[in-house]
Amino acid sequence: MRRGGLVAFPTETVYGLGADVLNLNAVKKVFEAKGRPADNPLIVHVAPLIKLDEIIDEMPAKGQLLIESFWPGPLTLVVKKTILISDLVSGDLDTVAVRMPKNDVALALINTLGEAIVGPSANLSGRPSPTTAHHVYDDLRGKVDLILDAGPTEIGLESTVVDVTIDPPLILRRGGVTQESLERVIGTVEIGTREQLRRSPGTRYRHYAPRARVVLLPIGRAEEFARELQAHRQRREKVACIVHSPPLTALESGELFRVLPSSLTMFARYLFRTLRELDALGVDVILVEGVSEEGIGAAVMDRLRKAAQS
Ligand code: AMP
Ligand code: MG
Repeated sequence: MRRGGLVAFPTETVYGLGADVLNLNAVKKVFEAKGRPADNPLIVHVAPLIKLDEIIDEMPAKGQLLIESFWPGPLTLVVKKTILISDLVSGDLDTVAVRMPKNDVALALINTLGEAIVGPSANLSGRPSPTTAHHVYDDLRGKVDLILDAGPTEIGLESTVVDVTIDPPLILRRGGVTQESLERVIGTVEIGTREQLRRSPGTRYRHYAPRARVVLLPIGRAEEFARELQAHRQRREKVACIVHSPPLTALESGELFRVLPSSLTMFARYLFRTLRELDALGVDVILVEGVSEEGIGAAVMDRLRKAAQS
């Protein structure tokens, strides 16, 4: 990284693609490797030895409270940036997104480098985020200098992004920290409306999508699910399914039928991995039974809706 190389690293959410935040050549290579549009800014990752005031121009009181409660952890704060943060990193905005990941390998990497690093998810732009080192290898081999493998990630979904430059703060992306837990610390937190989300450039792009078409179906409606499955099969499409409970008939089984635990944290942990696995089997369509929107379920449904919109 000191020589401007790219290093994929584990975090508690998904694998990140790391480069020295001050090395603009390296930052450019991050965009190129991912095929990421230049107006989609990168999250700057920090560790305890990094001086925040070199990155953040102004930290509002509510932002500070959130840091005390949730860092290290899956919470990204959008704040006013200093002049040390290049427009390349921030997608030409005057703000920067910052977080401290809760993963010893990531923290050691940043502390040892002695600089903050950019760390977008280490996938090709638009594909499901990588939750194992192997996913990174599948998407970026030949484009990264090193992949640090610390096993599968724990949360499996990206961080929550909150804009604290405004009051009440605004959730730009749902993720590992729920709205309720943020509100317990700082009171009202709003969820970005479509219009407001224009300010979070990443939300404009298709996301989290496997190559197969994703069809999202309501939770617990077995008959509707079976009808949809039947319809796709009649069209001779190769269909895979992700459901909560084991299939009732022998027809609905085999490797194309995946049962994901109904616990929301487990569902979140395995979702991207399962989408990638089913994709690798060359299916045309993936039918997914949705989850309830409680807790991290809201972030899961957000990802599923985006994956399903094509
Ligand atoms: P990723 O790096 O793939 O996890 O995506 C980062 C997300 O953070 C994207 O949705 C970005 O649009 C969002 N983001 C990063 N920086 C900013 C910023 N300065 N203002 C608003 N959103 C940001
Ligand atoms: Mg991403």
